[in-house]
Amino acid sequence: MPRESSTETYLGGEIHIGRLRHGADLLEGILTLCNEKAIHMGTIQAIGAVSSARVAYYDQVEKKYSELSFPGHYEILSLTGNVSMKDGSPVCHAHIVLGDDAGRAFGGHLVKGCTVFACEVVITAVIGTPLSRGFDETTGLPLWEFVQ
Ligand code: ZN
Repeated sequence: MPRESSTETYLGGEIHIGRLRHGADLLEGILTLCNEKAIHMGTIQAIGAVSSARVAYYDQVEKKYSELSFPGHYEILSLTGNVSMKDGSPVCHAHIVLGDDAGRAFGGHLVKGCTVFACEVVITAVIGTPLSRGFDETTGLPLWEFVQ
């Protein structure tokens, strides 16, 4: 019977608290921060606002992402994600919930194309060997690989 989950246990490391530049690309800004601070594994949280948004949705049947653009101004109600390694470089996997001027929420998988109006980011690094992503046949996604 297949295992229900795979896990690796880490100790908490440094907590990096920062602000992204007005006009920066949200995903690029987070990745730059991870590269500058040499964060290879950790968790990401952010709140703030964007002056345009772009997210993706993964079609589980087609096994591909479709991207959606939202040219308006939105609050970043919640951004949550993680950083790990893929092909030897840090990658950020994050999901974002945006809020509009009527209090409606929507969101998706964070991709390039969200322009920062203001953004406060907290990245909690962990101590230990980072997980790496590899292609998963079942889902078609680059998932974490665990040594059995
Ligand atoms: Zn995702």
